[in-house]
Amino acid sequence: MKIKGNKIYLPKLGWVKFYNSRPIPNGFKIKSVTVRKKADGSYVSVRIEDESVTKFPETKLEEIKTVTGLDMGLGKLIYCSDKSAINNPKFATNKTTKRLQKIRQRRISRKKRHSNNRRKAQQRLSIFQHKIAIKRDAYQWEVAKRIVYKSDAIAIEDLNIAGMIKRCKPKRDEHIGRFLKNGQSAKRALNRLIADASWYSLTQKIEYMAAKSGKIVLRVHPRHTSQECSVCHHIDPDNREGEKFFCTNCGHVDDANFQAGINIKNKAINHYGLNIIKKVRRDLPEPKQLTLFQTPTSELTELKRRKQSASNGKRVVPGNLSEYAFQLSLFNQENNHPDRDSL
Ligand SMILES: [Zn+2]
Repeated sequence: MKIKGNKIYLPKLGWVKFYNSRPIPNGFKIKSVTVRKKADGSYVSVRIEDESVTKFPETKLEEIKTVTGLDMGLGKLIYCSDKSAINNPKFATNKTTKRLQKIRQRRISRKKRHSNNRRKAQQRLSIFQHKIAIKRDAYQWEVAKRIVYKSDAIAIEDLNIAGMIKRCKPKRDEHIGRFLKNGQSAKRALNRLIADASWYSLTQKIEYMAAKSGKIVLRVHPRHTSQECSVCHHIDPDNREGEKFFCTNCGHVDDANFQAGINIKNKAINHYGLNIIKKVRRDLPEPKQLTLFQTPTSELTELKRRKQSASNGKRVVPGNLSEYAFQLSLFNQENNHPDRDSL
């Protein structure tokens, strides 16, 4: 595997031109290269390794002082135990995208089968969907960063999302043999919302960011997290009524979603036996983060653009310029974006 400027050597393919978004820092070896075909082209991601770099610091359970419980939802994406919430932009299920998607789908179905025009229309739809996925990914990285800064540990529910998206079982009338309504048409909309929120990939990103900043993600069993009272620990399905929480035992009133977040936090504390400091300053400075690479920021992109215009329109390949090769910095206080693997 070799990279030379804006060309990469791939086995069986030879030298292939590509966009080199980031130079490989000194001392790093290329471990593997993955080429992925997406709707708008092929992406190559390069895995690199330097054995002299220290590993990410591991967090011990005894060192945890603060915990945030997260309840994943649809109205808001995340309800935190500190009573803050993160919006759910619904990238694929909002009104505009649904309409656009429908139009693009209709354009395909009106074209003759196996025709070139139909293939092109299909291509346009998949690029549209790919762009939605990119937006969702970028948003989730921002969310994961914000969540991880909150506390030493993050408690989340161990959800079985594949089971939640399952279709309803078909119901059948035993005498006539006809199929009865089983509520699938109503559930389909909910399934789409759940798939659009993509809690699984969000938790994965939270885990990645946590490991990177020396934090820990604790998983708890989801049983009764939305039915339990956080004050008297009374469990009753009648406690919850839609968005409202009203304890039938002690009369504690709260928002049902935040109640779940607090329950998840308490569960994690009990289950892992944590020593939690009750009062925490809200305005804590952002924690130190182990940074391996400086990812391109908007200022850097502007710098790049200026260089390009200064070089009389010739395309500047970042891999060739020494000023773009950044020094490896440990415990950088700067606010960095997480590493994205696509180039
Ligand atoms: Zn209660």
